[in-house]
Parts: sequence; structure tokens; C-alpha cells
Amino acid sequence: MKKFLNDKFTSWENLYQTTKKLVDEKNFSPFIQGGVVAAAVVTEEDNVYYGINIDSACGWGVCAERNAIFNMFTNGENKIKKVLAVDKNGVLMPCGVCREALMQLDEKSGDIDVLININPLKTIKLKELLSKWWAYDWFKNSRQ
Ligand SMILES: [Zn+2]
Repeated sequence: MKKFLNDKFTSWENLYQTTKKLVDEKNFSPFIQGGVVAAAVVTEEDNVYYGINIDSACGWGVCAERNAIFNMFTNGENKIKKVLAVDKNGVLMPCGVCREALMQLDEKSGDIDVLININPLKTIKLKELLSKWWAYDWFKNSRQ
């Protein structure tokens, strides 16, 4: 069985290639499938955490990006610099829920680089995807 342990960021290309290897559609049970999408997040410490999407018969599944975020939380980190998601055809954009989850991590989350194309390399800032984000004040009012 393949194991995808956490990693250190070296380049977008390496991150893309490694994350793409995680794309592998699996049936975990008659009700639970996953692996059509894989994602990676890169933290402030340059640590990489991976995740795959999970879909289930009664809707409790999760996107690969949020699965990677949960992996990051499990390892005690909460600040992301980069994110990418892929399927067998290439780069995918994070859905609205994942964009929101990323924004809620930190007041600087708008500066997260989201991979939108690998060749040629193209990224976009999360704040460009959520240009009128609703809750910047929450960070100001609740300094941790
Ligand atoms: Zn999503």
C-alpha cells in the first residue's frame, strides 16, 4: 500500500507531480469512495500536507483541499502559503467551500498562492478569488 507522508516544499513542479500520484479512485466500502481529486497545502514552515477527496452515500464526504487542511491541523499547523488540487486531467480550482475554509485560517490567507496552471506556471492569490470577502473584521476583533 502506498503511503503519502508529509513532505517539504521544493517546487511547484515537484508538488504537482507528487500530488498527482495520489489521484487514484478507490472504493473504501460500498458506500465510501475517494481519490478522484488530490490536494496539497504548503504551510508557513514549508511543510506539505496531502489529502484526497472523499464521497459517501449519505453526503458526509469532503474535498481533497479540506482533507489536506485537516491533515495540517492534525500536525499542529494552521497557516498556509500555497495550495493546489489535481485530478487525472490536471490542475483544478478549489470550490467555494474550500476557498472559504482557506480564508478563515488567518488574516493573511488572502495571500495564499493557488495554482491554476502548471505549464506554464500560473498562480492566483486567494484574495483575487474572494475579492469581497465578508469577515476581515473578525480577525481584527479577535486577536488570538
Ligand atoms: Zn472544495
